[in-house]
Amino acid sequence: MTLSFVEGGTAITVDADRRVLPNTTVAIRNGTIVGIGDGDAMRREHGEPDDLIDAAGAAVLPGFVNGHTHGCMLYGRTLGADREFTDWFARTQLPIMSAMEREDFFLAELLTMVENLLEGNTTVLENSFFPRDVRRSGTSIVVDAARASGIRAVIADAYLTSNSAANFLETPDEVIDRHTDLINNHHRSGLLSVALSPLLPWATTPADLQNSMRLCRDSGVMLHAHCAETPHYNERSVAVHGARSNVDFLLSSGALGPNVQLVGCSEADAEDLIVIAQTGTRVISVPTSDLYQSHRLTSLADLRSRGIPISVASNGCAGNGGQSMFDAMRDGVGIAKALAVEPVMGVNDALELATIDAARNLGIDDLVGSLEIGKRGDVIVIDLHRPHVAPALNVPAAVAYSCRGSDVRHVLVDGNVVVRGGQCMTVDVPALVGEVLRRASGIAASEPDIGALACGLS
Ligand SMILES: [Zn+2]
Repeated sequence: MTLSFVEGGTAITVDADRRVLPNTTVAIRNGTIVGIGDGDAMRREHGEPDDLIDAAGAAVLPGFVNGHTHGCMLYGRTLGADREFTDWFARTQLPIMSAMEREDFFLAELLTMVENLLEGNTTVLENSFFPRDVRRSGTSIVVDAARASGIRAVIADAYLTSNSAANFLETPDEVIDRHTDLINNHHRSGLLSVALSPLLPWATTPADLQNSMRLCRDSGVMLHAHCAETPHYNERSVAVHGARSNVDFLLSSGALGPNVQLVGCSEADAEDLIVIAQTGTRVISVPTSDLYQSHRLTSLADLRSRGIPISVASNGCAGNGGQSMFDAMRDGVGIAKALAVEPVMGVNDALELATIDAARNLGIDDLVGSLEIGKRGDVIVIDLHRPHVAPALNVPAAVAYSCRGSDVRHVLVDGNVVVRGGQCMTVDVPALVGEVLRRASGIAASEPDIGALACGLS
């Protein structure tokens, strides 16, 4: 029996009443939030805590839920940063991933999980993809990395079955067998859950999607798919599948609905958005990576006005330079403001897009996404006594618009303190960063094409 108090901060609960509670204590017993209120009242009800986490001068929030990233691409961070998306993916990212060994992918995934924790992201959906031989050489790399870091994770280990680099392809039977094992062993087990993910619309078939949706329905998991991120997505859907658009391809394949998460959708037109809304399909927007990769900008206010369930995510280390949900929520709301005549989204929307909306879109809002009794103890403490934050008279506005990942002081996942005083408690971070740098530099030195990319020469 472990009792922890996160004491004395301003709690931004993101509950149904959007309560903001000054000088509040959050009590967590055995991983579950059991009380939110005055410190003395918490002691009378629950006793003295085993662990007292000081949140004085800080904001206390539910941990951010990063609903889409690609930790497997970590070595590609900075490579081809300003290129057009498809050129960037095929000619900078796939080459370095093809040169990586199993240990490289584990280290990349582990550093991604650590980066997310230090940013205050207590949940991450990892949309990994690996060369076939790497994947088949042992246990799930993402599961191993998530467990080593202590993060809550949705394993969306994506598949490619056609029209992509040959060393990444799997057969349809391999895809279903692999996911059946993942679901049976890890879905809603401990800190893990599972989603099925066709990585790219032109690299899958209607039959693949139908098989995936059948397994999703039978197993209660969700489908997670990139959709209409660039014009190329629609062009390839026309050329490969004869569909009007990426959304049309998914619709005709039976792959839309409330248990489907679409990532991106910048190039979804008015007809597509009507279909997305009518089918109850969810959209995870990646505003920072849309800016980074010069995609068409999406107004989340427009999507919300159509009744589409929305949230934001980072799209990760290679796709936007980092894992910041502070950036994602600020950019998502900022873009909506810029595209509208009147202010249409604000502070509360930003905070919800990164917490409860994100948890709902991943189907885990029964566990996380708000500070409420009965939910899991995924809690972050954000320092407000910083020069770029003070004076934080309006604490929600300070968190939404002024704070940064480096202001995250403490992070609890399922009641376990995984970041204390800004230091990761589960992984030797300097050693991990050193090893990643050593191995990635070794690949750049031995592979001339990648070395040229690293020097900005190609
Ligand atoms: Zn992505």
